[in-house]
Amino acid sequence: MTTVAVMGSSGSIGTQTLDIIRTEPDRFTVDALAVGSDVAALAAQVEEFGPRLAVVADPDRFAEAKEVIGDRATVLAGEDGLREASAEAEVIVNGVMGFAGLAVTMSALEHGRRLGLANKESLIAAGPVVQAVRSTPGAEIIPVDSEHCALHQCLRSGERSEVESLVLTASGGPFRGRSAAELAEVTVDDALAHPTWSMGPKITVDSSTLMNKGLEVIEAHELYGISYDDIEVVVHPQSIVHSMVNFTDGATMAQLSDPDMRLCIGYALTYPKRLDRPFGRIDWSEASTLTFEPPDRAAFPCLDLAFEAGRRGGTAPAWLSAANEVAVEAFLDGLMSWCGIAELNEQLLNEHDGASAGSLEDVLEADARARDRARSRIHGNL
Ligand code: MG
Repeated sequence: MTTVAVMGSSGSIGTQTLDIIRTEPDRFTVDALAVGSDVAALAAQVEEFGPRLAVVADPDRFAEAKEVIGDRATVLAGEDGLREASAEAEVIVNGVMGFAGLAVTMSALEHGRRLGLANKESLIAAGPVVQAVRSTPGAEIIPVDSEHCALHQCLRSGERSEVESLVLTASGGPFRGRSAAELAEVTVDDALAHPTWSMGPKITVDSSTLMNKGLEVIEAHELYGISYDDIEVVVHPQSIVHSMVNFTDGATMAQLSDPDMRLCIGYALTYPKRLDRPFGRIDWSEASTLTFEPPDRAAFPCLDLAFEAGRRGGTAPAWLSAANEVAVEAFLDGLMSWCGIAELNEQLLNEHDGASAGSLEDVLEADARARDRARSRIHGNL
């Protein structure tokens, strides 16, 4: 039996993790569950899965959670609760959104656990801080993201010294093939029409600007220690090849499947073994075509802005990611054009002060300052 802590259990990653656990009750057991504030969902999950611990991250909901859950699980709250629930299980799936997820990442790694990582901030904003605890004996990160999970699988076909480069695939988003002039006219609705994956509005806009791919490049660098010069991005509109690794002898290894996050989650739960049941298996009896093309770096400047932030290191990725969140919100609120997102990100990156990321406080401060500056720029105060 593998014990699993599902952190962010009412969200998309959390509910898909529980889907897998539900189908293989002889293989997995739930040690802890955590939600942000959805106490009703937590109570229903406690009823079904019988965990040892149940956490509500919002401390104001603690009394309510205790009332509803009673003695069916030990109820905890707040950051301390997230930390305590991320310390014991064999696998801790971190599907918590935002900076709250850092507590989960740090605790899991500090306690030498396996972390199934879906929280973006952990490696994009706080990469240098997280690196410091990865060397705890037993600690390991298995990424729960299609690209990084694909890279993890491909990297198993050779020694690290035999890796020439990583190739991240990008769907190209809804604006693939459009010129810079055409992109000046795009609307919020256009940006939200993602061709192959269905996701929330923020990440869908990030996918349309290629910022999502740029931030994934930073995550790949942090995860696998490969230099930015050796990470490529290729546009692959079908989203079937999830990423690839080039080896020194000329071989390219790729991982293919239909888009299904449960394949990645299952991989994180079972590595170095695999799930018995398939998710996203391709039907090879049907004709299909896979195409690849280089990204248009001039029309989608966010990609290179992320490379630039990654190369600068320190708090630059945290800074850019925060600026980008403010820019995307402003775009969704109709306050700026789609092209304005990249313009604001570039302005902000140029204003980054080169601060290092020695502690979580440094990262949070960079995040807050970047948001302030970005908002001031949008509202014309700078
Ligand atoms: Mg991805």
